[in-house]
Amino acid sequence: TLQVAMAFALMSALYGDFMQAVGASIRIFDLLDRIPDVPTENGDVLYQLDGRVEFQHVYFNYPSRPETKVLKDITFTVEPGEMVALVGPSGGGKSTIVNLIERFYDPDSGKILLGDVDLKTLDPQWFRKKIAMVGQEPTLFASSIKDNIAYGCSATDYQIEEVAKEANAHEFISTFEEGYNTLVGERGVRLSGGQKQRIAIARALIMNPVLLLLDEATSALDAESEHLVQEAVDRAMKGRTFIVIAHRLSTVRNATKVVVIDKGEIAEMGTHDDLIAKNGVYKRLVLRQLTAGSFHESLDKDNNQE
Ligand code: ATP
Repeated sequence: TLQVAMAFALMSALYGDFMQAVGASIRIFDLLDRIPDVPTENGDVLYQLDGRVEFQHVYFNYPSRPETKVLKDITFTVEPGEMVALVGPSGGGKSTIVNLIERFYDPDSGKILLGDVDLKTLDPQWFRKKIAMVGQEPTLFASSIKDNIAYGCSATDYQIEEVAKEANAHEFISTFEEGYNTLVGERGVRLSGGQKQRIAIARALIMNPVLLLLDEATSALDAESEHLVQEAVDRAMKGRTFIVIAHRLSTVRNATKVVVIDKGEIAEMGTHDDLIAKNGVYKRLVLRQLTAGSFHESLDKDNNQE
């Protein structure tokens, strides 16, 4: 549509090189204020990528605040098909880890491997198409729902509808008079947080990424929406490597590995059950979050074991 064309023209003009570098990254609209701080020239393109992620002794400070140590000696591995939950107090560094996986910044020292290859040697434009990120409040751009789902991919109407069904978005989209052509964004219909997340999941599905990154909503969605988002996430993570910044107890329980990040360091690592049994930082964190109401379920099962 004209509106999309104009939006693209304006953005390309403003962010020429940047747009080129980011390519079809689904986070493009979140990214406008998160311009990668790394060189964007071409690197290697691999024949295959399997979603494995490895942090090797990563140290990192944001360039704008070089005196603040944000990540210190972060070492962990996410094997293909694993579901890893990042948890920890606010400001601990969870989002920073995700930013580094998307290579918005490079580590000051240490290495991040994607597959078995140093992220720094890969073509950012290429590997960002293999990684999908679903944020807490995904930003939709002022265009149709269809364009928002297909963004950056050449998808048919049929494919768009299929992924929307997978993402539990088809039903609410169908209630709009104009269906997939309904305008969203500033001058379009207002969508709830849960509906936006489901559109972002549909967008992720159309990319068919090897690695799915999710920042779980901290604020409670209404029960219905929460269930539909959860179901969509469960479908989207199947057969993929999945890294989630987790705020729900059911999520950490399902994770193959929980990585507890506290003040930029890995405080503990293991399964939920291992860490509860350890009676350390993780257990305190879970109990505190339960009391604060930020975990939506109860820990009765674990408390009863004591
Ligand atoms: P939350 O759970 O609140 O999202 P988090 O664990 O994801 O927190 P980060 O957002 O990674 O933590 O933040 C880690 C530290 O880095 C904090 O001290 C934060 O203030 C700082 N920080 C985050 N983003 C930036 C940035 N773009 N520039 C400078 N400092 C930043």
